Amino acid sequence: MLIKVGSQILTHRDRANLKPNQYLLETIERLPAFARDISKETKAQVLERNGYTCQMCGFGAGDPDPFGGNRTVRLTMGHILDKSKGGNDSANNLRAVCTNCNEGLQNTAPPKPDSIHLKSQVRRATVEDQKFVLDWLLQKFNLEVVPKGKPT
Ligand SMILES: [Zn+2]
Repeated sequence: MLIKVGSQILTHRDRANLKPNQYLLETIERLPAFARDISKETKAQVLERNGYTCQMCGFGAGDPDPFGGNRTVRLTMGHILDKSKGGNDSANNLRAVCTNCNEGLQNTAPPKPDSIHLKSQVRRATVEDQKFVLDWLLQKFNLEVVPKGKPT
């Protein structure tokens, strides 16, 4: 198991029922390891630029967590060039990454749906839901609809 900086690990010094050399990972809730270094403004800028979407798996903030439970996807700051390789905390070197990807769990993530499967799902949806998807895509790609035959 990969233990990230910021994880809460308890020892026998913290809990009487733990023996020496026993450790308890109290929560896998990641305390943001970089939060102190990265300003709110920088985070907001990066999230906005990345459309509040994980740049590794494509899940968005608030989407149902693909690993189940009642959790939703949470985004965190990921370094494009790792700090150990000289990367800094500037917005240019940061990207939105969900906590799953940040933990290296993306290798076990469910495979991405292929385009034919996706299309069939959208086709089966109600017109309202299709429009919802369309609106979402337009927003995501920063496009707008121009009706056909509009006088120029
Ligand atoms: Zn992700």
